[in-house]
Amino acid sequence: MQRLAFAYIRRSSYKQQDNNSVEIQKQHIKEFAKRNGLIVPDEFIFIEDVTSAFTKRANKRKQLMMMGKKMLEMNVSVVIFNDISRMDRTGYSFAIDFYRPMLEKIPNLQVFTVDSNEPIDFENTNIKLNFLLFNHESEVKSVRAIGNLTAVLEQETRIRPGSKVPYGYCQIEKQLHPNEDAEVVNFIYFLASWGTSFKRIATFLDEARIPAPNGGTWNSSTIENILNNPVYSGNLIWQVPKRKEGQKQFVFEDTHKPIITDFVSQLQIYNRHLQGIYGRLDTPFLFLNKITCRHCKQGLITQNGSTKRNGTVYNYQYYVCKNCNYKVNTNEVHEKLIPLMLKKVYELVSSTEIQQQSKNFVLQMILETEGQIESLENKVGIFSRKLLQAKELNDRLLESQISSAIKQYKHSLEELNSCHTSLVRLNNSLKSDQFFSRFENILKFDLGDIEKRLIILYFIDSVILATDQQPTVQFKSNIFGDFLISKNG
Ligand SMILES: [Zn+2]
Repeated sequence: MQRLAFAYIRRSSYKQQDNNSVEIQKQHIKEFAKRNGLIVPDEFIFIEDVTSAFTKRANKRKQLMMMGKKMLEMNVSVVIFNDISRMDRTGYSFAIDFYRPMLEKIPNLQVFTVDSNEPIDFENTNIKLNFLLFNHESEVKSVRAIGNLTAVLEQETRIRPGSKVPYGYCQIEKQLHPNEDAEVVNFIYFLASWGTSFKRIATFLDEARIPAPNGGTWNSSTIENILNNPVYSGNLIWQVPKRKEGQKQFVFEDTHKPIITDFVSQLQIYNRHLQGIYGRLDTPFLFLNKITCRHCKQGLITQNGSTKRNGTVYNYQYYVCKNCNYKVNTNEVHEKLIPLMLKKVYELVSSTEIQQQSKNFVLQMILETEGQIESLENKVGIFSRKLLQAKELNDRLLESQISSAIKQYKHSLEELNSCHTSLVRLNNSLKSDQFFSRFENILKFDLGDIEKRLIILYFIDSVILATDQQPTVQFKSNIFGDFLISKNG
């Protein structure tokens, strides 16, 4: 006997992705149903629009909730999704808002995806982590992380002797070796590299029931400490406090096996640096500090407004020019500019010419920095000899002037060396295609606001708006212009 089944499809916001179109998803579902002796009438297929372009958790998705209601009414226990990414972009909310409440009412509930003839087992930790990770599935590393994370999750008690050993490592014969927690560290860095806040990362891990280093729940400061610890990129740092000339830092490079790449580490530092300049990533004002009024040549400020109609509160958000009072609704700006921007960024990262230009640019910066370092080192050499002469001449004034000049040069040298290091890292990441490949799938996924804002900060120089003209979006001529972060900056 054939059983009835419901199906759920999400319409992608970007039409150029043919393999995600509603028709193709429908076709996959019909084929799957046929193979498994299921019948899916057309009116049992629910299509969720994501034109709002905002990522919503499951209980905010009208069609999904309506489908759940219908399933209960009709007493149908089978539902098919085209793939896991159609279910839930933010991952865990699908299980919390849809699956678990439904399971209480329909104990024989079966959720299928078209790529497996077995229903999904939500208690399986792999699935749980898939939910967390699928939106970044292009990142090979994170997918690989699932396997090992599962092992962590299945382990009930974890003994961690020697609290000094950093989380993610164990110590064998005085050497640090990555342990099964290393993949959790990897995942934390990965989320941070896409702009996820400390607090949100902690929530993610708690909801996936991954225990914190102390065995309990995660908090922001634990995440922050992990992200600030250079040990994970393979460097060991010893702080030697209270010496005469102040605290001194020793860096031992490549002392042990790194858990993350230098690049991922740099990227999350860079993200924080960008927030320092342009304001938070987690904001509904995606173009915060990036929009200018064409007439007044002034940055637009943000404004939150709300009105009450028939007892319902409606929230409005605007970008406003303080000078001429030009005011524009954020949705209007975002709906118009974001698809345009993503398309352009996609073209940028797919163009070998742009990639080559960026690589050349970074190489050139490396050469320039090396030139500056060399000339500074020469100056320090010359001044050191002069210092000796001044001492011989017993010229105290000259001696102190030369000393302070040397001190300044040495300070600049330190900054230049740190710039040089980050440029070399950036160059390596470009050579191994770590940077551009991050953006290859941006048209395929419905990106969250934080990711959109991050992409805006990476690629857009400014947006110029006016009432009487089309907006102008100025892309950065050099993507890596902001990338240079000096040690003290
Ligand atoms: Zn204005």
